[in-house]
Amino acid sequence: MIKKELLERWTVEKSEELYGIKNWGAGYFNISSNGEVMINPFGKKSDVSVSFMDILSGIKQRGFEMPVLLRFENLLDAQISHLNESFRKAIKDNNYQGQYKGVYPIKVNQQQQVIEEVAKYGECYHHGLEVGSKAELIGALSIMKDKEACLICNGYKDEEFIDLGLYAVKMGFQCFFVVEIPGELELIMQRSETLKIKPLIGMRIKLSSKAGGHWTESGGDRSIFGLNTTQLIEAVDFLKAKNMLDSLKLLHYHLGSQIPNIRDIRSAVVEAARIYAELVKEGAPMGYLDLGGGLAVDYDGSNTNFSNSRNYSIDEYCVDIIEIVQSTMNSENIPHPTIITESGRVTVAYYSILVFNVLDVAKFEIEAIPETPPENSHDLIKSLYYILNTMNLKNIQECYNDALYYRDEVRDLFKHGKISLRERSFAETVFWNIISIIAKEKKKMKQYPPDLSDIESAIADIYYCNFSVFQSAPDHWAINQLFPIIPLHRLTEMPTRNAVIADITCDCDGKIDSFIDLHDVQHVLPLHELQHDEDYYLGIFLVGAYQETLGDLHNLFGDTNVVSVRIYQNGDYDFVREIEGDTVADVLSYVEFNPKQMLLDFRELAEQAIREGKITANERREIMKAYDNGLRGYTYFEK
Ligand SMILES: *Cc1c(COP(=O)(O)O)cnc(C)c1O
Repeated sequence: MIKKELLERWTVEKSEELYGIKNWGAGYFNISSNGEVMINPFGKKSDVSVSFMDILSGIKQRGFEMPVLLRFENLLDAQISHLNESFRKAIKDNNYQGQYKGVYPIKVNQQQQVIEEVAKYGECYHHGLEVGSKAELIGALSIMKDKEACLICNGYKDEEFIDLGLYAVKMGFQCFFVVEIPGELELIMQRSETLKIKPLIGMRIKLSSKAGGHWTESGGDRSIFGLNTTQLIEAVDFLKAKNMLDSLKLLHYHLGSQIPNIRDIRSAVVEAARIYAELVKEGAPMGYLDLGGGLAVDYDGSNTNFSNSRNYSIDEYCVDIIEIVQSTMNSENIPHPTIITESGRVTVAYYSILVFNVLDVAKFEIEAIPETPPENSHDLIKSLYYILNTMNLKNIQECYNDALYYRDEVRDLFKHGKISLRERSFAETVFWNIISIIAKEKKKMKQYPPDLSDIESAIADIYYCNFSVFQSAPDHWAINQLFPIIPLHRLTEMPTRNAVIADITCDCDGKIDSFIDLHDVQHVLPLHELQHDEDYYLGIFLVGAYQETLGDLHNLFGDTNVVSVRIYQNGDYDFVREIEGDTVADVLSYVEFNPKQMLLDFRELAEQAIREGKITANERREIMKAYDNGLRGYTYFEK
């Protein structure tokens, strides 16, 4: 009865709070009164919103299977606007004399349609591109049209790369070579003399400022790229000697990605602004200060300096940068430079959402046990019962240790033939009864022993889901990054199960068992009980940055289906682009199989089976059809 009452009192507001959607959604996502997740493509400015479930039904009608990666072009546009407008406002409010010109680093999401959309939508802000390799430069040059936007070339550059960049300059692009290591400068000068094209040169520096966070190896003294101060001075002298100091226009650093703490960002800007001023005093024309990436995304919505969050807003980031650069330049009487940032993560993270269905659930259910141990029980079983009967809040750690100890003893005795399978099974049931009581008691404790930190996930249901962590959220596997995950519907109902998520790779790492929380990391995700007659859909949000191209072919699960959506001001929307995911034949050919030959070989096998009288010719036809369909099929679970 109590349960029914609770269910009735559940509200959409409670779901919003439970899943934190307003904290991490940046105004782009909310929940409708009928319990579905909605996208608000124009943010808080407009009340246009579209239900994910409506979009999904359109996708299903078009014959696409789950999982599907949804991309919302609107969110790219909105984030580019947000960044540029924030800088514009900070520039205006402070009467800063330079401009802001952002560049989008291609490596963060290299999909052609992303780059094209950035170039198209960013044109009004002269938002440019950053490339880190020859391939990226070649890609960028096929898309970029805006001659006022910057094209920043980072990464190690060979002759071909340099020649292409110089030709870009000749064609009128603001294409900068950022010198990453001392040796590069020589080659740039040689090629420039040969081709008679004057380069635009930037220097990447190693700052002494370091930042906390997951991805910050690129900053600090020990970063592999960038010049230290000695090398910087040598480079200046080299340019002076060649009479080329007038090519030095830009100073660059990249502290690392996802910098959670604004103090680290500030201290890096202070140091870089000082170095910039010194280069001007050395006689370099300069004009551009490129602060790299690092602007973080608040994945868990906690607004803290935790590695999956950030303790500042985009507005604050912009204001701090403008104020620091301005005050440094004013005190040295130096013109305010054009500010460049290479913000990738924050530009594209919101853009993609992975949507998938739940295939099955392994519920954690423990059998009830009698109140006292059955007669003739083994002593170890009696010991487990003793724990069960004497447990209280104070001795919980001790009980946990003892329970583990006795369970392991039981397993040992079983191995030596001293305990029957039935006895072992009963002992394990008692053990799990103890563990689930400990998990319940733990909730009452303000502080609990570290051993118990993720005990909930041990007694959680396992929701088997139709996707691959390795393909679609590789950073969760690689560096335990957290992404917000939320059911896309049924949010008027109370989620009554605690779950961990398993993907379908059957790899023990193919799971998600850490989830966002405002104060901590959760080890279970509350989800709804599966219903027999209805699919249950979940979304992993904020996967637009880095996940798509880092994904791999673990267990030969390939690219997912991708559907790009554009929503119009009146709430109508189009599926502007659909990309079919990899087929089984595709992924096999990536690892050097030849699907045509495979069909021939398999046919030979089937023919032999006919000769041996194992199958009939008619059966061969059916078997061949199944094999052929398998090759053409989607790598994920198909209905
Ligand atoms: C990766 C990278 C970026 C992007 O950083 P974000 O934190 O994603 O904005 C920018 N610049 C350089 C040089 C990079 O290597």
